[in-house]
Amino acid sequence: MSPVFAESSGHLSPCLCPQPRVVKFSGMRKGIPVSPGVAIGTAYVIHEIFVNPDTKRLERSEITAELARYETARDRAAADLRALERKVESQVGHDEAAVFAVHQSILRDTSFTNKIRSWVVDERMTAAAALHRLMGEYTELFTRTNDSYLRERLNDVRDVVIRISTHLSQVLNADNQMPAMQGPLIVVADELLPSQAVALGNIEVQGIATQAGSQTSHAAIIARSRGIPAVSGIPKLLRTVKTGDTIVVDGRDGHVLINPDPETLAAFRKLEREFFDLKDNLAENRDAPAVTREGVELQLLANINGVADAEAACAMGAAGTGLYRTEYLYLTHPDVPDEEEQLENYIRIIEASPSRIVTIRTLDIGGDKTIPYLGHSHQEANPFMGWRSIRLSFEHPEFFNTQIRAVIRAAASVPDSQVQLMFPMVTTVEELRKIGAMVRRAYKLLRAENKVLRPVPIGMMLEVPAAAVMIVSMLELVDFVSIGSNDLVQYLMAADRDNPKVSGLCEPMSPAVLHVLGSVIQACNHAGKPVTLCGEMAGRPKTFLLLLGMGLRRFSMSPSFIPSIKQLASQVTIPQAESFYQAASRFRTTAEVKRYMSRVLNEIAPNLAILDTIS
Ligand code: PEP
Ligand code: MG
Repeated sequence: MSPVFAESSGHLSPCLCPQPRVVKFSGMRKGIPVSPGVAIGTAYVIHEIFVNPDTKRLERSEITAELARYETARDRAAADLRALERKVESQVGHDEAAVFAVHQSILRDTSFTNKIRSWVVDERMTAAAALHRLMGEYTELFTRTNDSYLRERLNDVRDVVIRISTHLSQVLNADNQMPAMQGPLIVVADELLPSQAVALGNIEVQGIATQAGSQTSHAAIIARSRGIPAVSGIPKLLRTVKTGDTIVVDGRDGHVLINPDPETLAAFRKLEREFFDLKDNLAENRDAPAVTREGVELQLLANINGVADAEAACAMGAAGTGLYRTEYLYLTHPDVPDEEEQLENYIRIIEASPSRIVTIRTLDIGGDKTIPYLGHSHQEANPFMGWRSIRLSFEHPEFFNTQIRAVIRAAASVPDSQVQLMFPMVTTVEELRKIGAMVRRAYKLLRAENKVLRPVPIGMMLEVPAAAVMIVSMLELVDFVSIGSNDLVQYLMAADRDNPKVSGLCEPMSPAVLHVLGSVIQACNHAGKPVTLCGEMAGRPKTFLLLLGMGLRRFSMSPSFIPSIKQLASQVTIPQAESFYQAASRFRTTAEVKRYMSRVLNEIAPNLAILDTIS
């Protein structure tokens, strides 16, 4: 018998996975791993000016050239925005493109440009320094107001300022004052803005490292859906990295290495090659069935945020969309999308999804994502425990009803589709009763309007510990459950998943989490209610094995993880997975579970270790 199957607490075979000798040197930074794999490239710092404002005073003779440089950068920014508006309009939709029109109007605003010009001419500031000062002024002005809509506009101004300053640094390039960008790039930023994320489609990005950001930030979502290694939440990153530096992004454990020594670099290059080879090999198995070694069928679904992700889900061999996060439809919309606009969006998502299977989640806003037009306040002391998700939707019944109606109508509009409607952050039985009443009423009204309808299964996300405790009663009120382990883990451990100081506690392999997940999955299976898990742990090899051992058969994850999980599934039997879970559940500490599962993975599929965390 392999040592892994026999062992539950003692000494297992040594780790087979090659680990580079990581020398602790001053250029190593620790952050939160948000997308696995290893990448090496040249740093491309997106908005240096916010942390390293230019203090140079211009000579009089330099002023004209500096103004010309600013105008060139501004023209290039305007051209970018026009192109982005066209691209997003044709590929995503008119409403989603509106944000780029807003940015163009900011760029045209004469008071904006006049200020920059006058500071360059009168105060001999560089254009970069003037932009930095302008941003400071706007920040002060906007944060003083109580109007959340106005405060939200600050992000638009920031986006425009960043765009111009990025071009400013490229204008410098033309004069050979900055190193020319060569080879694969590692994007380094404070936090990636939505428009930058779209623009990244045009350049060869190998990895992403951000100073702020979290598992749910744009950088993380884009990185995971494209399979790019990424690390976020790295303190003071922008103070240490400059464009042109050599960067290693190790998305397995959240390290970033800046200008490492040749020996360390060589060790990571080997790992990077393995990562690429693995991605190439895995992509080939996309049409293989998702089955365990003995042929038990699994459902591997995709988490998506828009049509492009649904297409990626098809390309990666997903069986359907297990989670459509509708908030991105709202976040890119200048006001509440009406029923017809939503209907159109949902139909496009259904048509683009694998086998037209889609679970649509109602708006999950609040916490780290806010929408000004829903009157959302930025001033909650504990936003993740506050007015978010269905709590907010309940207080906007007209808007909530519209979303429910649009989903029901979309489900009936696409032939051969299987659409489910899911509600996030359910905490109490009362909430589920209220949701049931709203859905029944929506059907009644739609029937009265002679709309063609089909039954849509109604489900809850299990993300709050109170719901886990009450799962048996809740199951009577839903058709299915999807476990949102990202939130469940942070609420269970009382540790913000996005706060690097405590995110170490937010550990899916903690014995407490395993215990709760095991009992929820068992309760659902016992009641005969379909249960899926759609948090990050569904796509991570070690936690996938544990979930399989708990009795889970449906998994929803970023599309890029599907090929590796499909391969892993084919290398393990259900009794093996059950024995791993039983062994793991006897440990009392997270460290022991993690150590044990590392060894399990190294026994079963050592080539996949690079897609998971090291410890
Ligand atoms: C989760 O909480 O696990 C989940 C999938 O939802 P989100 O990450 O969108 O909060
Ligand atoms: Mg969640």
